[in-house]
Amino acid sequence: MQGSLIFSERKRVFVRGVVQGVGFRPFLHALARKYSLTGFVSNQSSGVLFEVQGSPDAVAAFLENLRTAPPPLAVIDEVRVETIAPVSESGFYILESTSQSEASTPISPDIAVCDDCRRELLFDPADRRFRYPFINCTNCGPRFTIIRDIPYDRPNTTMAAFKMCAQCQAEYDSPDDRRFHAQPNACPVCGPKIWVDQSSDADWEEAARRILLRGEILAIKGIGGFHLAVDATNEYAVARLRERKGRKDKPFALMARDVEVISRYAFVGDQERTALESRQRPIVLLRRRPRVELAASVAPGNPLIGFMLPYAPLHYLLLEDQPLVMTSGNLSEEPIVWRNEDAVTQLGGIADAFLMHDRDIHVPCDDSVVTVYSGHDGGHELPIRRSRGYGPMPVKLPVRRPMTLAVGAELKACFCLTRGEYAYMSQHIGDMENLETVDAFARALQHMQALFRCQPERVVCDSHPGYLSTRWARTYAQQQGLPLVEVQHHHAHAMSLMAEHGLPEDATALVFAFDGTGYGTDGAIWGGEVLLARYQGFQRLAHLKYTPLPGGDSAIRHPARVALAHLFAAGIEWSDDLPCVQACTAVELRVLRQQLTAGTHSVPTSSMGRLFDAVAAFLGLRRTVSYEGQAAIELEALCAGFNGAATPYAVAFGETEFDVTPMWEEMTRDLPAGSDPVLMAARFHHTICDVILHYGRRVREEFGVTTIGMTGGVFQNIYLLKAAVEAVEREGLRVLTHGTVPPNDGGIALGQAVIAG
Ligand code: ZN
Ligand code: ZN
Ligand code: FE
Repeated sequence: MQGSLIFSERKRVFVRGVVQGVGFRPFLHALARKYSLTGFVSNQSSGVLFEVQGSPDAVAAFLENLRTAPPPLAVIDEVRVETIAPVSESGFYILESTSQSEASTPISPDIAVCDDCRRELLFDPADRRFRYPFINCTNCGPRFTIIRDIPYDRPNTTMAAFKMCAQCQAEYDSPDDRRFHAQPNACPVCGPKIWVDQSSDADWEEAARRILLRGEILAIKGIGGFHLAVDATNEYAVARLRERKGRKDKPFALMARDVEVISRYAFVGDQERTALESRQRPIVLLRRRPRVELAASVAPGNPLIGFMLPYAPLHYLLLEDQPLVMTSGNLSEEPIVWRNEDAVTQLGGIADAFLMHDRDIHVPCDDSVVTVYSGHDGGHELPIRRSRGYGPMPVKLPVRRPMTLAVGAELKACFCLTRGEYAYMSQHIGDMENLETVDAFARALQHMQALFRCQPERVVCDSHPGYLSTRWARTYAQQQGLPLVEVQHHHAHAMSLMAEHGLPEDATALVFAFDGTGYGTDGAIWGGEVLLARYQGFQRLAHLKYTPLPGGDSAIRHPARVALAHLFAAGIEWSDDLPCVQACTAVELRVLRQQLTAGTHSVPTSSMGRLFDAVAAFLGLRRTVSYEGQAAIELEALCAGFNGAATPYAVAFGETEFDVTPMWEEMTRDLPAGSDPVLMAARFHHTICDVILHYGRRVREEFGVTTIGMTGGVFQNIYLLKAAVEAVEREGLRVLTHGTVPPNDGGIALGQAVIAG
């Protein structure tokens, strides 16, 4: 033994990144055996530490293999190698984890059932986990939602309650098994149980199926919380769910067994298929096929439909030929329900029955939503909601900041915690408009702080004094004795885009921050902003000319009134042959005219979101809406298939503002004269592209800035995004669009977190 030591080499290696809960230790174990190396591996709170020893060639090959072909779920950020003295040993061991209270390491998100597990689950009647709804392995299963503390080991998860049977334990201990050190490992003998409440049927699959077939509402406990499920082809069932949930038009998400079923209802291209089948299993927004048998109430008036594939084993067991509506189990506007006892009390008025299990969800995590943008770079996912499957994957920061808690804005709230080079974005919390959501926010924060050992040194919030998140941040900062930084909304949008793309500390970009609402430094409602943005601050180069927003935020629900306000501001008569005039009663028109003339009850706004609403209402699409963005979505849909030439309307460019009065004048002449609304919608989109191009050219000439960013909720509009990106690239400018965090307010916390000073 001593003799061979002379020819041996020993390396101590420390790996940082997403390396826990992703099968890293079994991977190293197998690799060590392949190259006949001895040593050990151990999970540390801040990464994975291992030592390997053997012939120098074998050690080199081992390290090369680690670099070029790491386990599929791992994300390696750093490998530190040092040479140490060989020791006398045999074998390669996985050591007990050590917990260091101050260190931290990224944690794997929850991962959809892998192909191997799916095969055993559905197609292998001889397997002891055949049709067992909690099957998982090293490569799949719940992670983030079951972890109570780090390091990621079974006693620190909600699986601690289940003692493995001899067979499961043997798998867990065997380096050759694909369940080697799979923390949630379980089987029908020792693992979690599933049942249907309020059913006499002993067979849960039978019971659940029967409930859905009858058109009843089944609450289903999954990975990150409860869903409310009904048969998506049964109009009676879907309408009843809408009524009970108090949700008027906002589309429901659907789940189908496979892509073939989805293709019956929606168009699925290659990129959409990739997104659907990815291990994150997000809801993917798809263009729906006309005239298919889907309940009308699934997504009323919406050209898009959100589909996802099963991700928990129990979904696979439940789904048959029919797609299911799978909407978050919550009361309208409240956070998702995730505990068995809360489900019964809170969803009891909605659900007819409950599919329950006894594996606790430690923190809730909603489904994620993406859309696919096929543009200049061959296409990528555009996140709409970044939650299950993605959270808490960190975003690597290009700039160093003190440990920061950024609390986001109001709608689609997410917070962000930074530590060193990582920014941890929280799961989707919901709209911070009620106390339940604020509670959910505080709980999620506590969890993330525990997982990442993060004690913020400063707090960052939106500068809107009325946001609950701002008020929460003020109180929190005061209680903790931390400095509070308030960031202008659109500046934060811009910085989230810059951070996502890794722009360095001294970077400047021209950013178009187009959204519905954000508090401006002058007290007006901003939203059509052209900013020269830096991490240190911004210059408001120009903005959409202010128009009065009658009734303030309540105008959001009345696009026809916004259209009339725009016409009023442009000095255009409200002629009876315009749809937006016809959409209002005589009384409404009179009150509106009084308000606008006197300048009372209205707030000046440069909101681009409201301009889209106004154009939609002007073209006769919508007079009222029941959720934000509804009119704009229909406007995009109107011209989505339009391929002809669409000349932009004229825009008047002033020193610090751009004015669309010339556009309104032309549209007011064209529409009553019989112009095609489809063409007009397309021309409007290209008008906005023209605005972008105009400032892009100007800023290159004046400031030499050649990086153009597009952020804000308006850029969820794929037609606009595509046209704008193409136009700007033709000009030879660099374009930044979102691919990691959403362009909407769900991504804003990242931008807040990277503000300097
Ligand atoms: Zn698996
Ligand atoms: Zn077992
Ligand atoms: Fe915004």
